[in-house]
Amino acid sequence: MKLGKIAVVAVVIAAGLVVPGSAPALAHGGGEPPRNPTATGYGGAVSTVDPTATAVGLDVLRRGGNAVDAAVAAAATLGVTEPFSAGIGGGGFFVYYDAKTRRVHTIDGREAAPRAMGQDAFIKADGTPMAFQEARISGISAGVPGSLLTWKEALRKWGSRSLGAALSPAADVARRGFTVDATFRQQIADNSAQFAQFDSTRDLYLPGGQPPLVGSRFRNPDLADTYGEISRRGTDAFYEGAIARDIVATVQHPPVAADPAVPWQFEIRPGGMTLADLDRYDVRFPAPTKSDYRGYTVYGMSTPSSGGVAVSEALNILEQFDLAGLTATEALHLYLEASALSFADRNRYVGDYTSQAVLDELVRDKFAAERACQIDPTKALVKPVAPGSPDGHYGGCTTATAVADGNPGQSTTNLTVTDKWGNIVEYTLTIEQTGGNAMVVPGRGFLLNNEMTDFNFAQAPGAPADPNLPAPGKRPRSSMSPTIVFDDGKPFLALGSPGGATIITTVLQILVNRIDLGMTLPEAMAAPRASQRNASPGQAEPAFITAYGGELGTLGQAFAATPELGAATAIEFTRRGLIATAEPVRRGGGAAGVLHNSH
Ligand code: GLU
Repeated sequence: MKLGKIAVVAVVIAAGLVVPGSAPALAHGGGEPPRNPTATGYGGAVSTVDPTATAVGLDVLRRGGNAVDAAVAAAATLGVTEPFSAGIGGGGFFVYYDAKTRRVHTIDGREAAPRAMGQDAFIKADGTPMAFQEARISGISAGVPGSLLTWKEALRKWGSRSLGAALSPAADVARRGFTVDATFRQQIADNSAQFAQFDSTRDLYLPGGQPPLVGSRFRNPDLADTYGEISRRGTDAFYEGAIARDIVATVQHPPVAADPAVPWQFEIRPGGMTLADLDRYDVRFPAPTKSDYRGYTVYGMSTPSSGGVAVSEALNILEQFDLAGLTATEALHLYLEASALSFADRNRYVGDYTSQAVLDELVRDKFAAERACQIDPTKALVKPVAPGSPDGHYGGCTTATAVADGNPGQSTTNLTVTDKWGNIVEYTLTIEQTGGNAMVVPGRGFLLNNEMTDFNFAQAPGAPADPNLPAPGKRPRSSMSPTIVFDDGKPFLALGSPGGATIITTVLQILVNRIDLGMTLPEAMAAPRASQRNASPGQAEPAFITAYGGELGTLGQAFAATPELGAATAIEFTRRGLIATAEPVRRGGGAAGVLHNSH
């Protein structure tokens, strides 16, 4: 949920609202909570895309909760105020640094394919793959959700509060309501044809046939009740009980409107998710990816996300060059090339079942050196570049057949939290597309994900076996890249972003900006972005094209303009305290806050 521009001005002026020890400035009763892109101080920090979620997280910290308690409470709130990007109908990846043991843990809460989902799930009767929207707006696209179990397990292992306590502020926001801003309204407007197809979704998000007005109060009592029921009965209510039955009914019998106001061009197919699929679901605790970059240690998310591997490989490639000694254009050229090479490899090799041996090879420096030797500092490679051979034998410049990329998503949200003990949570969560599969579970107030469309729909003829095809129980490859960087064993930077496949390049570019190009963290976040994912043209924000497009063009880089890339959050840990940052402008601007401001 974002405030409108005028409200932003008012809120910035009222930034003093967050007084340590005061009650949270939530979106009920009095004024809206503050929306600051940067906050510096100590005692803990929260950064999310949404002022209400940030205020909830800060309040948990203020009342003695730890980073995990605050992260879960903030995430549950995002399920209310950012319902088109995240919620209990979806999944995500949770990275946790435990300050006491100085270890990094991860939770894979990715949605899983139902047992009934075969490799041809998105192939039509005539043998051709479905169009993207055809696949998305169906019961087939919904995977078994993982967010709620992620929250439960994170709290059980590292939290100090109950799940009920963590859900309570979010339920409160859902019941009392919050003020609709331009982004919330726009996200509904962009999905109005999809949302109009389902009675439950139309009733909630298109009251009177229209998206709610900016400035009006939006309430979701069904979601408040759902959070309440989970608080009372535990996650079994969701994975085995009445909520599970409602999810399965929605997937198997989509609540299609008899008279949709807007026609839909595709058949709306049911999916095969069963109660047994929900009951069987569990989160996983994979080891994080770990790599070194110029003396820093970078921890990220392993499979089924490709984020950790792809960011690590690209950094390893960049480490072969002295970026700090180059001009910005020369350095950005290398950033784009390293990213393209890394995407070629993740597309070819990374999926849920990729062996650890292959993952280890992909992040080896020797493999990166072999990949880096293909880069010409004066001339862009022709895209798509071929994947390399992470076979343990390195030395030459290898070539192989290029493969196509999957469907990049456009939804998702990210949050970064730290507490006074120094614990850190970096968490990216999603329902895939903005609006997920467009089905609100009737009476429950949350949207289902369409995460299964992150699988590739079909094996490309003649290409090597695609690691990201659907299979029963399998989790689709993600690009989510929650990342924590250490300097000499001490936390240095935690960051992540939404943006589908551009997540990887956004995280990478912020790291390069901060570590190599001499920017402060707020500068590194605000700097215009470009995304090269092994295709030509790459994508870039208009300000990037204005600043660098000409010079990079002479090196052979090409860009298609895209309004914005990512909506990152980050916290830097310095000797003088914390620098919490969110986007100053993208997606309407995020909200960073610290427990105690330094002046
Ligand atoms: N479903 C995407 C992924 O897991 C994220 C979608 C998005 O960020 O927009 O990579």
